[in-house]
Amino acid sequence: MADWVKRDMEGWGRWPVISAEVARPETRADMVKAVGDSQGDGLLAYGLGRSYGDTALHSGHVVMTTRLDRFLAFDPATGWLKAEAGVSLEEVLRVFVPRGFFLPITPGTKFVTLGGALACDVHGKNHHVDGSFSNHVRSFELLTASGEVLEVRKETHPELWKATVGGLGLTGVVLSVELRLTPVAGPWIEMESVRVEDLDHFFAVSAESTGFTHTVGWIDCVTTGKAMGRGIFMRGRHAPQGIEAKKSLLGRVVDAADRLLDVPIDGPGWLLNQATVKAFNEVYFRKHPRGQKNSIVHYEPFFYPLDAVRHWNRIYGKRGFLQYQMVLPKTPDQRPLREILGAITRSGFGSFLAVIKEFGPTDNGWLSFPTPGVTLALDFPNHGAPLLELLERLDAITVEAGGRVYLGKDARVSRESFQRMYPEWEAWKAARDAVDPKGVFRSTMGERLGLVTPGGRS
Ligand SMILES: Cc1cc2nc3c(=O)[nH]c(=O)nc-3n(C[C@H](O)[C@H](O)[C@H](O)COP(=O)(O)OP(=O)(O)OC[C@H]3O[C@@H](n4cnc5c(N)ncnc54)[C@H](O)[C@@H]3O)c2cc1C
Repeated sequence: MADWVKRDMEGWGRWPVISAEVARPETRADMVKAVGDSQGDGLLAYGLGRSYGDTALHSGHVVMTTRLDRFLAFDPATGWLKAEAGVSLEEVLRVFVPRGFFLPITPGTKFVTLGGALACDVHGKNHHVDGSFSNHVRSFELLTASGEVLEVRKETHPELWKATVGGLGLTGVVLSVELRLTPVAGPWIEMESVRVEDLDHFFAVSAESTGFTHTVGWIDCVTTGKAMGRGIFMRGRHAPQGIEAKKSLLGRVVDAADRLLDVPIDGPGWLLNQATVKAFNEVYFRKHPRGQKNSIVHYEPFFYPLDAVRHWNRIYGKRGFLQYQMVLPKTPDQRPLREILGAITRSGFGSFLAVIKEFGPTDNGWLSFPTPGVTLALDFPNHGAPLLELLERLDAITVEAGGRVYLGKDARVSRESFQRMYPEWEAWKAARDAVDPKGVFRSTMGERLGLVTPGGRS
């Protein structure tokens, strides 16, 4: 018997909060026992809780994976690393950057487990060149509902692979991942940032950035009219050997010990309103000089600017916040994207951070998020029903355009919209029902979207 404790659980957006029986198994054997314990009530793995909504929540049993945190094998000649699924990206960087290796793909925070990265098939700033997380994974071990552990490879279990990669923890518990790290000369990134004056300018700069492996933009989603989509475009690549010699170019080295900023308490509800969001967007845009700035920066501020402030999600107060991230196929006039930005400005619910990026070609899991096109991610304080109405309008525009919402950040998409966004969901469900016929693995999100049936059998 694992030690189960009743706890309130939440994702990074702090909404919703769901109470669950929670255990933190320390070994693979304990994890297998935990699956046995929970049969009637359903089970779900929980990594570092960096998904935003109800992706990692479940009202039955939840197993935290962070004690499964051992490195199992590494080949410095090829970069192949095998590690337990509870190892965090932070730990991989801490151990392997000094040895000349970097993560092939990283999301905008390093406080994510390998298992969570696989289950959401995360993408990074280099998606247009390198695809998503699963493109760099050779195999993973999956603890299934029957208690059996399978070594899953694309070639040996093609359907289980496509169901588990991006499969939101609903096919079993990933115990270990075999991932190929990328060789790098050191921790430095050659970076250029370009001020873009509107959306057309953003796409023009994105198109001329082919020499950069990593690209991303921040856009102001409060300003309308001709300047709609103005912002800052950032592009970078790992710096070559010898950059340390050019000391005058190097930015400040930031490491974990520098992360002194913290938000120790919940922000008051009034902190984030239309006026503060507008002011922030104006200042951020004006701070950047017209044209282009070149610099050499440490990977921390380039990849993880938000990790510098611990618990930044508390700024949004006790009611939490919702992130909305969608991808839209590109059209010559970017009409759906303009409609989305227009609907947000008209609603008055601005977003502090609006991150925009172009995705490249994809070949991943049935529920993996990235598809070719442009993705936009926005944070909204939880304003209840009026905000939910806005997000439903955004869903309608997204569905109409043939796009989809990222399930790793979602807490409210309807089943009908989901099925139109992810037309391969039936193939996913057939594969998932084959590996878990009794519906042991369940989540609040899975029940909401009709991926699993509440109370058992999927
Ligand atoms: C600041 C910030 C920036 C982000 N930027 C990006 C980004 O750029 N790109 C991107 O793709 N995502 C991004 N994310 C989202 C985040 O990368 C994903 O949600 C990731 O999956 C979180 O990993 P986790 O370990 O915290 O998993 P959790 O949030 O705990 O769980 C997420 C899902 O993974 C499942 N899961 C976790 N561990 C296992 C396991 N061992 N076996 C089976 N299933 C498991 C859970 O059941 C759940 O369905 C960002 C999040 C934050 C907070």
